[in-house]
Amino acid sequence: MKHYDIGIIGGGISGIMCAFELIKHKNDLQICIFEKGNSILNRKCPLTEDKSKKCLKCPSCAIMEGFGGCGSFSDGKYNFTTEFGGWLNEYLSNEEVMELIEYMDKILVEFGATTKRFTTRTPKARELGKICLQNDLHLLQSEVKHLGTENNLKIMTNIYNVLKDKIDIKHHTEVDNISLENNKYILNTNLEKYCCNFLISAVGRVGSEWFADQCKKLNINLTSNQIDLGVRIELPYEIFSHITDEVYEAKLHYYTKKYNDLVKTFCMNPKGHVVTENTIGVLTVNGHSYSDESLKSDNTNFALLVCNKFTSPFNEPLKYGKYIATLSNMLGDGVIVQRFGDLVKGRRTNEKRMQKSFTRPTLQSANAGDLGLVLPKRCLDNIIEMIYSLDNIARGTANYDTLLYGVEVKFYSARPELDNKLETKYPNFYAIGDGAGITRSLSQAAASGIYVARNILDKLTPS
Ligand SMILES: Cc1cc2nc3c(=O)[nH]c(=O)nc-3n(C[C@H](O)[C@H](O)[C@H](O)COP(=O)(O)OP(=O)(O)OC[C@H]3O[C@@H](n4cnc5c(N)ncnc54)[C@H](O)[C@@H]3O)c2cc1C
Repeated sequence: MKHYDIGIIGGGISGIMCAFELIKHKNDLQICIFEKGNSILNRKCPLTEDKSKKCLKCPSCAIMEGFGGCGSFSDGKYNFTTEFGGWLNEYLSNEEVMELIEYMDKILVEFGATTKRFTTRTPKARELGKICLQNDLHLLQSEVKHLGTENNLKIMTNIYNVLKDKIDIKHHTEVDNISLENNKYILNTNLEKYCCNFLISAVGRVGSEWFADQCKKLNINLTSNQIDLGVRIELPYEIFSHITDEVYEAKLHYYTKKYNDLVKTFCMNPKGHVVTENTIGVLTVNGHSYSDESLKSDNTNFALLVCNKFTSPFNEPLKYGKYIATLSNMLGDGVIVQRFGDLVKGRRTNEKRMQKSFTRPTLQSANAGDLGLVLPKRCLDNIIEMIYSLDNIARGTANYDTLLYGVEVKFYSARPELDNKLETKYPNFYAIGDGAGITRSLSQAAASGIYVARNILDKLTPS
């Protein structure tokens, strides 16, 4: 059985940054990243070539899995904030989290990332914030960098080319089981058995169900009670241009009058594209945008998500989200798209009505349908109220031809009990990134990886 000092399960940004920081400071460490997906050089979604094709549900989804993780084909919006994108500040101070994010950014810049940032602190952005407030919408404070889908992939490839010579990276290697023998961690994979002194779980959302099962088996306490459910909005770029030109991505929070539920905008993509993703076996929607002008579309897209927190006796939010996404897939034979005007009138958008739409969908494989038959009434009411509210700050959001794609679900991974070093109750066993339920963004996932690397280096350095 091959032995490593450090085993990292998952080659997403959290695992990559962890390995990078470890090897940078201690180059004699034997480190292995176990990644169930493909190498960054071979990751390719069959839909990239033909966008009208339906998702083929490949055994390993090239979008979600592989070196670089689910962030590789994202447009790389790196947020510099603790206001959203994760809960690392429940373990560290805000200042410490920000230091880690800034440190991570320096690494990305070394590998080719832009230095340009958008901020909510300019006089124009502050004025926008005021207009939002006057309409009971709350613009969260942040700085953001947009790397662009094509650049994000290049940067990940550059990092891969450096790391591959310093550590072992095992692709197509899925860890099936974790066990503990004589204070060492034994990893059973689909190929071989491995052993390591330090173990880091960095499995992302795609591996979160599996990791939760491992935690249950190892008697590590888990908490989970939330899911965000909603739609992706697509409208002409001009409608939001006064906002996106200034802050690029506006994170807006709103409490509905009807239910006092939180609805938020998420992942805004000016001149972007709506895409399908295969989330734990169901088709959901997402969005991204390129930085290359020639690859941009005429539309802006963003998610509108309603936060659902469940109380006793129900504690399976993941199943709830999966159930609704499955219903949507069943009715729409994949992703559904509907015009806002049709939704409000309570009628289905069909092919004929879709043809009349001035807003042309960027996701051609979506089928015209009726989201009213999919989303629970409360969720739908919240989304409609939020659209009218956004119309006050971006006139035209509530136009008949605004497109709604469904469903978009943001699963929150169950969170294992971790101490403030992100270590489980088992010594030298850590959990980082989205799969540990402690982050929900590239920057905080990366920060968690660097943080754990530093904690391990501290342990390895004799005082
Ligand atoms: C389409 C899309 C767009 C996004 N856009 C943005 C954005 O612009 N800005 C932003 O901040 N965030 C964005 N996100 C979210 C962001 O990508 C994630 O927050 C981030 O990638 C989480 O990193 P991670 O390392 O925790 O997990 P991941 O990136 O999910 O990586 C986990 C890796 O672990 C592997 N794995 C899982 N289980 C196992 C196992 N048992 N054995 C071996 N390997 C395993 C998976 O194959 C995967 O490669 C986006 C996400 C998607 C899907």
